[in-house]
Amino acid sequence: HRFLHFRGKVPLQGSLLALPLVAGEVCVGVALFHRDKINSFQFDEVGLYHIIANQIASAVENALLYQQTRELATHDELTGLFNRRVLETRLEMEWERFRRFDITLAFIMVDVDFFKRFNDEFGHLLGDRVLRQVGQLVPEQVRKVDTVARYGGEEFAVLLPRTNKVEAAAVAEKLRAAVASLAIRPDNRDEDIGITISVGVASTEDAPRSAKQLLDMADHALLVSKSSGRNRVTTYGEGQLLV
Ligand code: GH3
Ligand code: MG
Ligand code: MG
Repeated sequence: HRFLHFRGKVPLQGSLLALPLVAGEVCVGVALFHRDKINSFQFDEVGLYHIIANQIASAVENALLYQQTRELATHDELTGLFNRRVLETRLEMEWERFRRFDITLAFIMVDVDFFKRFNDEFGHLLGDRVLRQVGQLVPEQVRKVDTVARYGGEEFAVLLPRTNKVEAAAVAEKLRAAVASLAIRPDNRDEDIGITISVGVASTEDAPRSAKQLLDMADHALLVSKSSGRNRVTTYGEGQLLV
């Protein structure tokens, strides 16, 4: 039934030739040839249509590969979020906007708490599922103009143009609360488990001298969140790094 798109579009009577579009080992589609006349496709004709189908198959395969390669260059495979490279490019761009037009810019860094332990206890597969869930949840809590990226393994970053530190801290708190209320159900358990994140926030109000320094400030605030107990939001300049 996946290949019956022609239904109702061509007369039901006649001849139909369906050829799989096979590229390597994979069927990338089906080519359908129709004629009004019954028993119209001759045996030797089918060979010709096969050759055409093979040509189509390799063109489709190339297009899919190209699309995949492009996607991988900018997106993280697990979560579908932007990758670190895109984030850094956008950060540099927004930084230039800030310098030229003096538009504030905020940065949020997120790190999942005790995630190594989570993996050890529940397995990497569930760990991956959790990362996908978090990766889905973060964009839901921010504006469309914000850039959400998977920064590293269990680290996520959000770039918020035209946002001040107080506003960014509120967004960060929303994120923290949303993750803390996620209910994760491992396959072999009857109860839900939870995870938490630690968050660091910085903005151009903290007077960074470069885009990189803005990121480092958010990262530093994140470390303060970690050292002061995790599952919390810290803004740059607030609290102290306890070692
Ligand atoms: P902390 O609260 O201090 O952040 O502790 P942590 O265990 O989260 O920190 P650490 O950096 O030591 O460990 C990060 C872990 O994240 C290690 C690695 O097993 C896990 N991780 C990183 N990337 C992935 C991934 O793609 N999938 C899964 N399942 N786990 C990942
Ligand atoms: Mg980490
Ligand atoms: Mg962590």
